[in-house]
Amino acid sequence: MQQLQNYIGGRLLPAASGRTFEVFEPATGGLLGAVPDSDAADVAAAVTAGAAAWPAWRGLTAEERRQWLNRIADGIEQRAAAFARAESDDTGKPLKLAASLDIPRAVANFRFFADAATQFATEAHAMPGTAINYTLRQPLGVVACISPWNLPLYLLSWKVAPALATGNTVVAKPSEFTPLTAHLLAQLCAEIALPAGVLNIVQGLGARAGQALIEHPAVRAISFTGGTTTGRAIAAAAAQDFKRVTLELGGKNATLVFADCDFDAAVAGCVRAAFTNQGEICLCGSRILIEASIYERFRDALVAKVRALKVGDPLDAASDQGAIVSQPHLQKVLGAIEEARRLKGRILCGGERVQASGRCANGWFVAPTLVDGLPADCAVNQEEIFGPVATLVPFAGEAEALQLANSTRFGLAASLWSRDVARCHRVAEELQAGVVWINTWLMRDLRTPIGGVKHSGLGREGGLEALRFFTEPKNVCVKYA
Ligand code: NDP
Repeated sequence: MQQLQNYIGGRLLPAASGRTFEVFEPATGGLLGAVPDSDAADVAAAVTAGAAAWPAWRGLTAEERRQWLNRIADGIEQRAAAFARAESDDTGKPLKLAASLDIPRAVANFRFFADAATQFATEAHAMPGTAINYTLRQPLGVVACISPWNLPLYLLSWKVAPALATGNTVVAKPSEFTPLTAHLLAQLCAEIALPAGVLNIVQGLGARAGQALIEHPAVRAISFTGGTTTGRAIAAAAAQDFKRVTLELGGKNATLVFADCDFDAAVAGCVRAAFTNQGEICLCGSRILIEASIYERFRDALVAKVRALKVGDPLDAASDQGAIVSQPHLQKVLGAIEEARRLKGRILCGGERVQASGRCANGWFVAPTLVDGLPADCAVNQEEIFGPVATLVPFAGEAEALQLANSTRFGLAASLWSRDVARCHRVAEELQAGVVWINTWLMRDLRTPIGGVKHSGLGREGGLEALRFFTEPKNVCVKYA
C-alpha cells in the first residue's frame, strides 16, 4: 500500500494533521493507498508557498518557463508506463486507454502550453495621430486548479500547464478518488527541482481541502472541472472575493443520427461516444437520437456492437471497458438503470453488474447498457449518469431532433451524423452546446475552445481561451505628446 503525500513549497509532506484516508482500486476493490486528508492548514501553507514563489516565476521569460514545462513533459514521457499503470489502477479504466490517451495527452498539454505562451501576442489599439493603447496580459498570482476523477492527469495538466506557462503559481487539488498520478507528478517535479512553490499539490477531500482552497482570500482564480452541483457552490464561494472562475461541468450530450448518415461509421461513432472510458467522460454522447425511418435497423446494429464490447480486467489488452471508479458511483449508475426499469424502459443490452473473475472478482463492473422506450423528459434522459448507460430516442425530422437535443438543462457537447453538408452546418448552428462534432466524436485540437453553455459551465478552456483566463488584461494608453 502506498503512502501518498502533498507537495508544498517543493517538499513532499504528509497532511499537517497527520490524518489520512484510504483509496481503493476499482477493478479489485482492494486498498491502493493512504492519502493525506488535508485541511485549511495545508492549503494555507500551499498558498503561502505559491505566493512566495510568484515574483521569481513571473520574472522568468516565457522561454524559460517553456523549458520548465517541457522538462515536466519529458519526465512524464520517460515514466509513461508507470503513469499509465497508476491511472488505470486508480480509475479502473483499461490500461491501453490510459497508455494511448490519458498520459500522452497530459504530455501534449504541457508541451502545447509551453509553446503557446511564447506565441501569446496582445492587442494594440491605435488612435491615429494622438495615442496608442496596448494591452498587457499579466499573470494573476496564485491560482487554484481543481480536477475530477475521470481523466485525472489529463484534466489536471490541462489547467496547470496554461496557468504555469503564463506566469502564475498553482495550488492543485486532485479528486479524492484518483490521487495517484498527481502524486507521481509531484515526485517528478521534486526530482527535476522545479522552483519550490511554483506548483503545489494538496491531496484531500473536496469538502475540506477543496473548500478551504476556494475560500482562501489570496487565491486569485479558480479553474474547476467537475459536477454541476459542486460548480454552483464554487461560483457562489468565488463571488465573495470576486475571484475569476472557469467551470467545466456536467453534460447530457446528444448524438443525432440522420437517415442519410454513413450507417456503419455512425454506429461505430455512437458506440465510441457512449462507452469510451466506461461512459465516464463529460463529453460522452449518452442520448442517441435516431431518425425514425432507420430507427429499428440502427438500434439493432448498435445493440449488436455494444454486446460485443468486452468488460473486464483493465490490465487485459482485450478489455474494451474497465471498472466504475468508486462504489458510490457504481450505486449511482445502477440506480439510474433501476429508474429506467421502473419507468418501463426497455433494456436492450446490459442492465446489470458484471461479475469478473480472478483478481477482479470483487471489482465494480457494469455491462454497457442501452435503453429505449423512455419519455424524453424523464430523469434518465435528463440527468447525467456518467457511466456506461445510453438511451435511444427516435425523431421524425430535423426540427424534432433539435428540440430533443436542446431539451435538457445541460449544453456541453453534441455530435451529429449526416452526409448532407447543408444540414450539418444548419443543425450545428442551432445546437445549444459548447462543442459540436460532425461525423466524428472527441476529435480534439488543443487550440480550440472547450466548455459548455447552460448548466454545463461558464468560460472556456483550451488554446487562447486558457491563456486569456490565466492573465489579467491591463490597458496602457500612451499620448504622443
Ligand atoms: P465533483 O464535482 O464531485 O468533484 C470535482 C472536484 O471538485 C474534485 O476534486 C472534488 O474533490 C472537488 N470538490 C468537491 N467539492 C468541493 C468543494 N466544496 N470545494 C472545492 N472543491 C470541491 O465531480 P467528480 O469528481 O464526481 O467528476 C465528475 C463530474 O465532472 C461529472 O459531472 C462530469 O461531467 C464532470 N466533468 C466535466 C468535464 C468538462 O470538461 N465539462 C470534464 C470531466 C468531468 P473530491 O473528489 O474530494 O470530492
